[in-house]
Amino acid sequence: MTDQLDQMSQQRVSIEIFDTTLRDGLQVEGVSATVDDKLRIARQLDYLGVQYIEGGWPGANPKDIEFFARAATELELSASTFVAFGSTRRPRGKVDEDVTLQHLLDANTSAVCIVAKSSAYHVTEALQTSLDEGASMIADSVEFLHGHGRRVLVDMEHFFDGFKVNPEFSYRALEAAVLKGASHVVLCDTNGGSLPHEVEEIVRAVHGHIGNDVIIGIHCHDDTGCAVANSMAAVRGGARHVQGTLNGLGERTGNANLTSIIPNLQLKQNFVCLPEGRMERLTVVSHRVAETLNRAVNPQAPYVGSSAFAHKAGLHVSAIARARDAYEHVDPSAVGNGTRFVVSEMAGKATIQWKADEIGVSLDGPEIKAIIDELKRLEHEGYQFEAADASLELLMRRATGWQQDFFRVESMRLITDEVGRAAFSTEATVKVWVGDERFVFTAEGNGPVNAIDTALRRAVQKAYPQLSRVHLIDFKVRILDGGEATGAVTRVLLTATNGVEEWTTIGVSPNIIEASWRALEDSLVYGLLHPPDA
Ligand SMILES: [Zn+2]
Repeated sequence: MTDQLDQMSQQRVSIEIFDTTLRDGLQVEGVSATVDDKLRIARQLDYLGVQYIEGGWPGANPKDIEFFARAATELELSASTFVAFGSTRRPRGKVDEDVTLQHLLDANTSAVCIVAKSSAYHVTEALQTSLDEGASMIADSVEFLHGHGRRVLVDMEHFFDGFKVNPEFSYRALEAAVLKGASHVVLCDTNGGSLPHEVEEIVRAVHGHIGNDVIIGIHCHDDTGCAVANSMAAVRGGARHVQGTLNGLGERTGNANLTSIIPNLQLKQNFVCLPEGRMERLTVVSHRVAETLNRAVNPQAPYVGSSAFAHKAGLHVSAIARARDAYEHVDPSAVGNGTRFVVSEMAGKATIQWKADEIGVSLDGPEIKAIIDELKRLEHEGYQFEAADASLELLMRRATGWQQDFFRVESMRLITDEVGRAAFSTEATVKVWVGDERFVFTAEGNGPVNAIDTALRRAVQKAYPQLSRVHLIDFKVRILDGGEATGAVTRVLLTATNGVEEWTTIGVSPNIIEASWRALEDSLVYGLLHPPDA
């Protein structure tokens, strides 16, 4: 039996994962990364264990020049190979006079990836040159880089669209790369318009044509919502190298999402994408990269989203307690995520019990009943704990008689002045006790919530420096009884992070400042209760 298992594991086929978050991923609107951010992301990708990390265009601009210079000395990768990206030589140019190719060599990476025009239409229309010259540009460039000892991956731009119209030229482009020593030809769905059955068919045809001399790769964009499915279809057709980005970042509708593709291939199809023991890091890496780029992970993202394994109170909570696999498609811990039970006033005893087990609070029968009564009372006032897990946890702890002793607020004062026309200044003063020490802090803010957050945080941070890692990432306000206009009740939801975990707290009051203040206090207490481990 053991022999049989050994044999089975030997037969597992490897799929190379090539991450392009640092190039294609950063094309997403509203995102910009500093050189430090890029180094941090590269380290996270190596921690996850992807095979290739594409760093971008060396020499393209001062930021990229600095990034490649610092990567050469500061980036110590243990699992991943760092790749410089560029393009083939210019039409009618010479390889040894080509600036882009020279930058690729200067980057001094063992592997380089170049983009090549593999669609006849793009050669004649975009490059305004002949198909012969188009093929020569690829052949010359690959030969030059290969001759300088580089492993050469070629991204075949617009491959699928070109192949549908003129497969002869697309094959010619591939052959030019293969004959001159490319290690990989990566078929790109650059406009993202292809569908899974087309991708599988074309990749299979290419595989039949060029055989196993080089590795066939796939690079998809999500314009039809099929980038993940297209990447998997390509693997069915014979691709063994998948390019994509973490969290599907990328311009327009994004790139193929590696945080979905990797577990799909490895957990469901028995391929090997990551080294042993790395799949469990997927969720934390996804969130850390999102955090670095200041873009929260979609809660509904497959595998890594905070709702990916969340079960709402009701019929199946007690059933899932008995048999988790009846309601979860994979074990959440396989990707480093966890089961969550979402609690609302509909909650029964089983849900509260499970939530208590999840957060490690032990409750007796009367305490559970008290919590359910309190939930009903608060939800009637306008609280809603479905989204505010952190406040729920604090409520449950308080039901056992627990009280936070991190800090005690003596008073808070907020002043907003109109200084001249349309210029507002806001200032908050907070007096806080930590043990028998009193801290008084005043802060200005661009608005009242910002001012009270800054003042409270500064005061408490004096005693708890670990709070410097905690910051707000989302602030939602909702007016609950619209009919009452400015007299209505306000619900505030605050989401904070320590760089590893995210949590949401709630405050409700007719006074928007009080609602925000309650949510802020809970947010800091939760942050102090749950220091990040790494
Ligand atoms: Zn792309």
